[in-house]
Amino acid sequence: MSGEGLVLLGATGSIGASAIEVVRDLGDRFHIVGLSCLRRWRELDRIATETGAEAVAVADPDAWQEARAAGAFADIVCHQGPEGVLELARMASAATVLNGIVGAAGLVPTLAALEADKRVALANKEALVVGGELVVRAAGGGDRLRPVDSEHNAIWQLLDGRPEGSVRRIVLTASGGPFRGLSTERLRRVTPAEALAHPTWSMGAKITIDSATLANKGLEIIEAHHLFGLDYDRIDVVVHPQSIVHGMVELVDGTLFAELGKPDMRAPIRAALTWPERVANRVTTDLTRLSGLTFEAPDAERFPALGIARDAGRAGGTAPAVFNAANEVAVSAFLAGRIAFPQIPAICERVLGEHDVRPADSVETLLNADRWARERASERAGFEWTPIGTRG
Ligand code: NAD
Ligand code: MG
Repeated sequence: MSGEGLVLLGATGSIGASAIEVVRDLGDRFHIVGLSCLRRWRELDRIATETGAEAVAVADPDAWQEARAAGAFADIVCHQGPEGVLELARMASAATVLNGIVGAAGLVPTLAALEADKRVALANKEALVVGGELVVRAAGGGDRLRPVDSEHNAIWQLLDGRPEGSVRRIVLTASGGPFRGLSTERLRRVTPAEALAHPTWSMGAKITIDSATLANKGLEIIEAHHLFGLDYDRIDVVVHPQSIVHGMVELVDGTLFAELGKPDMRAPIRAALTWPERVANRVTTDLTRLSGLTFEAPDAERFPALGIARDAGRAGGTAPAVFNAANEVAVSAFLAGRIAFPQIPAICERVLGEHDVRPADSVETLLNADRWARERASERAGFEWTPIGTRG
């Protein structure tokens, strides 16, 4: 095998599938040495055979048992449980770890990879929301931490080398999700199936629901705060339903830069993996085929999650971890048909209101806050949380 070793965490997910295509398109530049999943070991087994990985990890211990009993992964190293995911994050034969895990479960593997001196291409925004200060500190400046989230990847490329003092603000675009035009009354009756039908992006279930509530953009504000070291009042959000402009940077003299492209996660994954190089390919944008690009302010009343997240970000410390955990539980409860759509932000707000914010001084503090918030949100939702395994 030639090329640089790459570990892909969350290989069975939507980001995982796009990353495998990018690696294949890049020829012998990378080779995949490690792959992880939560439960879908049969799919992981197929991907491991296709990519020739040396090691895998199955994060769910029951799924790991099932895989071993079935004789899967007989010829390669197969790690078990959340600890097994950390083994992969630190794998000696990898220089880069791409984290496509969904949820706060991605925090500790992100820290483990950075502490083992890996480059980290980070799709798992929740790691930065929950533990942004620790992650940024572990990354230690430079370009070892590379955002994959499309808006952040765009802004990261636009900011390249610009002196901090020259930037006035950054702008994250939001598609507005499938319910952009719906009334408050209609929002009470939307179904999981309707919420899962995203107008422009094809993604995993959790982020798709987050896009419908705008919690996703809220998480992204906090993600941007940590990645770019900007105060919250310098991070704006604009609704742009066509999802062609991914992010913008406005300089102090009013110059506005934007990054444009079709909504396709392979582009930010490619940029994150190959940075600072530019690898030639056939991707091009036919400007004459783009429908009109429109921009509008988000509606804070119908989509309160955005403001709740921004406030949690401003409060800092353990507040974003609590917001994120309550949101993960509420999204699962909505997908299971247990709560109505507007209860997702309502539960987040309620749980945050009950929380005593502490400084985010250690992983333990953050994981305790996460656990506490999951319990409170589960009570509020009348629902016991388990990791979302839709693409598991
Ligand atoms: P997904 O649900 O399709 O896949 C999630 C992956 O994580 C799966 O491989 C699953 O097995 C694994 N996983 C889930 N829970 C886990 C746990 N507790 N421990 C270990 N592994 C676990 O999700 P996705 O849409 O690919 O999103 C992944 C991350 O990337 C999320 O943080 C999301 O916000 C972010 N992101 C995704 C997109 C996208 O287009 N899908 C775009 C931007 C950012
Ligand atoms: Mg995004």
